Amino acid sequence: KIQVSGLKKAYGDNEVLKGIDVDIANGEVVCVIGPSGSGKSTFLRCLNKLEDITDGTVIVDGYDLTDKKVDIDKVRQHIGMVFQHFNLFPHMTALENVMLAPVQTKRATKEEARATGLRLLEQVGLGEKANAKPANLSGGQKQRVAIARALAMNPDIMLFDEATSALDPEMVGEVLQVLRDLADQGMTMVVVTHEMGFAREVSDRVIFMADGFVVEEGTPAELFGNPQNPRTQDFLKKVL
Ligand code: ATP
Ligand code: MG
Repeated sequence: KIQVSGLKKAYGDNEVLKGIDVDIANGEVVCVIGPSGSGKSTFLRCLNKLEDITDGTVIVDGYDLTDKKVDIDKVRQHIGMVFQHFNLFPHMTALENVMLAPVQTKRATKEEARATGLRLLEQVGLGEKANAKPANLSGGQKQRVAIARALAMNPDIMLFDEATSALDPEMVGEVLQVLRDLADQGMTMVVVTHEMGFAREVSDRVIFMADGFVVEEGTPAELFGNPQNPRTQDFLKKVL
């Protein structure tokens, strides 16, 4: 569960988030859409404190991220994040990449991490590629390893920032399918995406951001079918 209220984020004089109020329930899948530079990535990064929060509160699984006493490493163990670029360790196999964090944080023994890692690679359709190095995987396969790696910490929440934007078109579907499966399993997900088809099909709620504000939010049917705000209408006209 995520509770964001009055969230502001500034870089120097540049206020990028201007007061965001969003609540995300357990098991909810929320897609965030909006023009380039509107603050979508910044918003996502505030949810696991990759950015310092300028004002407002962000409460994740009951942890107040603006509380200086909160152990952010512990909070981050509840939150998996997948970016546009997968940043796999090139000298490690797919399985070793997936095993790394649980072993390093002593959440699991090597044997446990190996078993979980193999199961997760199966889940993302890469059981056969466990021993392959990233250089020998396609973009879509690498991104699926990155998702398995995030899942290895058994997160309650998964954040995706344009997880398919760097992929060749023919690889996009296989990665979106993994996200779809996760959504079906009840994972709480916040997905920044340009894939309007995905947002329409999979999300419980769509948030349209522009200029550091949440301009409009609603069910996919509401937001795509009957957008109320002129800025939403204008954006959708350009991307649909
Ligand atoms: P895109 O769709 O292109 O990914 P976005 O909606 O994710 O855009 P952000 O990356 O959140 O947008 O950026 C919002 C604004 O914040 C932009 O004007 C950007 O220049 C600024 N910004 C982002 N990161 C930083 C930073 N580290 N330092 C200074 N300004 C930043
Ligand atoms: Mg972005």
